[in-house]
Amino acid sequence: MAGARKPGRNFLFVPGPTNVPDRILRAMHIALEDHRSSDFPKLTLPLFEDLKKIFKTREGQVFIYPSSGTGAWESSLTNTRSPGDKLLAARFGQFSHLWIDLARRHGLEVVVQEEEWGTGVDPERIEEALRADKGHEIKGVMVVHNETATGVTSNVAAVRRAMDAADHPALLYVDGVSSIASIDFRFDEWRVDLAITGSQKGLMLPAGLGIVCASQKALGAMKDATCRRAYFDFADHMRANPTGYFPYTASLTLLHGLRESLAMLQEEGLDNVFARHRYLASGARAAVRAWGLKLCAREPKWYSDTVSAIMVPHGFNGADVIDRAYRRYNLALGAGLSQMAGKLFRIGHLGDLNELMLLAAISGAEMAMNDVGIEVELGSGVAAAQAEFRGATQVREQKVAAE
Ligand code: PLP
Repeated sequence: MAGARKPGRNFLFVPGPTNVPDRILRAMHIALEDHRSSDFPKLTLPLFEDLKKIFKTREGQVFIYPSSGTGAWESSLTNTRSPGDKLLAARFGQFSHLWIDLARRHGLEVVVQEEEWGTGVDPERIEEALRADKGHEIKGVMVVHNETATGVTSNVAAVRRAMDAADHPALLYVDGVSSIASIDFRFDEWRVDLAITGSQKGLMLPAGLGIVCASQKALGAMKDATCRRAYFDFADHMRANPTGYFPYTASLTLLHGLRESLAMLQEEGLDNVFARHRYLASGARAAVRAWGLKLCAREPKWYSDTVSAIMVPHGFNGADVIDRAYRRYNLALGAGLSQMAGKLFRIGHLGDLNELMLLAAISGAEMAMNDVGIEVELGSGVAAAQAEFRGATQVREQKVAAE
């Protein structure tokens, strides 16, 4: 089709899938192999061990599925629950909503605490509900650590403290799809029972792996759990995984990519990866301030280091900004979802990313906003982010020099 070619790079700034680094692309550029060969466990066994470091767990058991994050959601629930079981969940964005919906479709009863979109889990309300549940009918608390739809990070440690304060035995289910490997996540320390992630965000891979980490307590819940499960049954994986195999054909290409991704995360150092995300996010937030716009996240305590959801002024449609950015500047921004449709656009700043890449996205967002009539000053967001980066770098360098 004449004129269809878009020269130059596509700037991928949706909050997942994220940029796949060249190293990972090369690692995946392989001829396929026999997933039942005697060599296969050399690839797979270290993956389970290295993923445990990403979850920050010694005791947890990792499961890898050829699925997306949604499959990991399903796996966490069906392996540990029975139809009719009661769960407690806060809803404050499209992903917390979808997880609740999935649980209900499996016959689980979800008590929903509605929170304003732009805020997150309220640990006090969780504690209150658990204290009131004298008979321990609530079997699990579901928390979306980072609500990708609104750019809100909740405090999982505080939820764990609330559960402890109420002395409640419910399992703690945490969606870490857009936090794990980008924002600090501590499976053992927070005593998470089921943590869920996918390959296409902090792990810098294409979509196609759903990953679950289960505590020993969660594995203990399997024997009484009668939810229907087949493809996602932990038990089949627990039989095959210890020798390095899977109960069905593995995503060999993605597993090779995962090998490289984990090596890259180890080389940078997980804590440095978190610090980089915090630093880049502060640049994105400085740009939003300079534009005179607001984040969907109501207060700094909710700010996400992996995605900024930016409210467009009244009378404008966020979808127009996104469409313009994509068609004219080859820049992919994230859309507003469900009740936020049209009201915002999102810049994903997670995965394999540095300052200049993010500045390109900020620049493109500025131009697209101007094109659709939102009068932010051209260059203002870029300059504010640059100043933020320069200041932060000086602080960082001083810190290094002082040590
Ligand atoms: N949970 C969160 C927080 C997400 O951001 C997403 C996807 O973006 C999902 C779950 C669903 O994951 P997937 O689309 O990989 O099925």
